[in-house]
Amino acid sequence: MAYITLNKQSFFNNLDVIAYATKGVNKIALVLKDNAYGHGVFEIASLAKEYGITKAVVQTAKEAQNIESFFDYILVLADFPHAANDKARYTINDLKAINRFPHATKVELKVDTGMHRNGIAMSELRKTFCAIKEQGLVLEAVFTHHRSADELSSEWFWQNDNFKKVKQEARILAKEFGFGELRFHSSNSAALFRHVDFSEDMARVGIAAYGCMELPEAISVEGLKPVLSLYANKISSRELKKGECVGYGATYEIEKECIVSNYNFGYGDGFLRVCSNNYTTPHGVKLLGRISMDNSSFVCDEDKILIFDDATQVAEAAKTISYEVLTSLKAEIQREIV
Ligand SMILES: *Cc1c(COP(=O)(O)O)cnc(C)c1O
Repeated sequence: MAYITLNKQSFFNNLDVIAYATKGVNKIALVLKDNAYGHGVFEIASLAKEYGITKAVVQTAKEAQNIESFFDYILVLADFPHAANDKARYTINDLKAINRFPHATKVELKVDTGMHRNGIAMSELRKTFCAIKEQGLVLEAVFTHHRSADELSSEWFWQNDNFKKVKQEARILAKEFGFGELRFHSSNSAALFRHVDFSEDMARVGIAAYGCMELPEAISVEGLKPVLSLYANKISSRELKKGECVGYGATYEIEKECIVSNYNFGYGDGFLRVCSNNYTTPHGVKLLGRISMDNSSFVCDEDKILIFDDATQVAEAAKTISYEVLTSLKAEIQREIV
């Protein structure tokens, strides 16, 4: 199998850049869902703790349980409590789901300000506060999510306006229903860097911390560095002559005699198969033929090969986003902090 290295210096550099934008390390909630975007959740959680990050965001209660010892606060985006967990805050995504949270659960309310994926409607705020009170839940925060923070358009502005209205109404309702002071957050990585003067209580930052943002030039962010590199080891080599073909389906025909080696990383390990016949490594080494489950062939004779050190480049070849390239990497791949 291939192996992954995680560059601690690049990760800490990215956290410096993010902390500057949030105006404080305590305002960073590091998103660790999906095995920390494929980086390895324990490796990243321990590095984050070492840096001084105290807040994390995950998708499920199980993920929150796994990283309980690393953080003081863990936001669970879409799950219900399974076991007692002092650190966890659970997201209310739907008015009808409020009765599924046990009495005294610490919750955060997601409001749909235009993405129409999760969250209660803006018009349901009063009804929702009422239901939260009746269920005896502890409401700590109200948040939303942008649908187009990474695109240059007016969308960013009207969604912000909507959230502003939500904040105003929520503050009034919190007083009326006797909840404590609420916290508010709306920013993922792209949104954080679009705020000229960030002033929310925290930002939920994923891809920026991993250094693989893909933003239009006008809103791009300077100074972030990819953290993850992926290497594969050689299984075997052969000399191929003009006219011979490589791999399943004989889709690549050799044009000039060369040495072709086969490396131990394939789509079963997370190499997107759509890159078949269409990928060149950062060192200019060409991938030949189809990617197989545990194998891929390159014009190379080295014992190990750097497959990528910047997921955005693979994403470009695969016509997808760095998020998919990274989260496809299987948890079984060995990870090493360098
Ligand atoms: C995944 C996720 C984030 C992080 O997004 P990035 O673009 O990786 O920073 C933030 N908020 C929510 C609700 C998410 O699901």
